[in-house]
Amino acid sequence: MKKQIEKIYSRPLRPGMVGDGFRVFNYFPNNGLSQQRVSPFLLMDFNAEYDFGPSDHLRGVDVHPHKGFETVTIAYKGSVAHHDSTGNSGVINPGDVQWMTAGAGILHKEYHEKTFSKTGGPFEMVQLWVNLPAKHKLTNPGYQAITAGQMEKVTLADNGGSVNIIAGSFNEHKGPASTFTPVNMFDIRLNAGGKLTTKIPAEHNTILLVVNGEVEVNGEKAGQHDLVLFKNDGEEINVSADKNSVLLLLSGEPINEPIAQYGPFVMNTHRELQEAFEEFHSGKFGVLE
Ligand code: MN
Repeated sequence: MKKQIEKIYSRPLRPGMVGDGFRVFNYFPNNGLSQQRVSPFLLMDFNAEYDFGPSDHLRGVDVHPHKGFETVTIAYKGSVAHHDSTGNSGVINPGDVQWMTAGAGILHKEYHEKTFSKTGGPFEMVQLWVNLPAKHKLTNPGYQAITAGQMEKVTLADNGGSVNIIAGSFNEHKGPASTFTPVNMFDIRLNAGGKLTTKIPAEHNTILLVVNGEVEVNGEKAGQHDLVLFKNDGEEINVSADKNSVLLLLSGEPINEPIAQYGPFVMNTHRELQEAFEEFHSGKFGVLE
């Protein structure tokens, strides 16, 4: 049975700045789509293509904490550098994904990579926050650097395009990311006229972001920067591209637990948020210059 479409959300009107390096449209939780409705996803910030221009200063976000969830950064254009308090660092280049588990608490900073900063140019990325269930919220912080080359790439029929599997499974092929709850995350590139068919479990909360292009999804048109929310009723998804298109398909088994959020901390209760705040201020998340 086909998954029906519940609603198609247009891009929010105005972008916000995260630090001085990320000009993002927040699709949730600030625009009428609740965190429980899209659980386990907590936040979607989309830096739609934007040319920052050359700079000697590294634009970005300086040291800040996270606790109780995971951040996933997908680079489409431009490069993002990262350092964290566990000693991990890396560069996320176009096509690559960084999956960081904040878990029990981490400090990190995120900014434009040095060479990219100097030359400037188009910058396009998505950052997602993925919740952790209560039993894994205090897991050790960790980091998965997933390059485009490490992902299983499925080539679609009739020169239709390709699917890079970041997490979960697409038509029997599996992605490399290790997740705490069942999550599917696919980086889809369709050529004009290209078609894709897949099945996602009915109970998964499922969304599709049109990063670029224009498609028809289960009979409805979705344009540039639209976000499609599916009902939790069927399994089948059919997409055909009217233009060359880049799509991000996300689904996950809902975590049916209370969500308590204060800025960069996402726990289950208010008391746990207070603890997170106290731990951060007493230096328990480590040190990062
Ligand atoms: Mn962060």
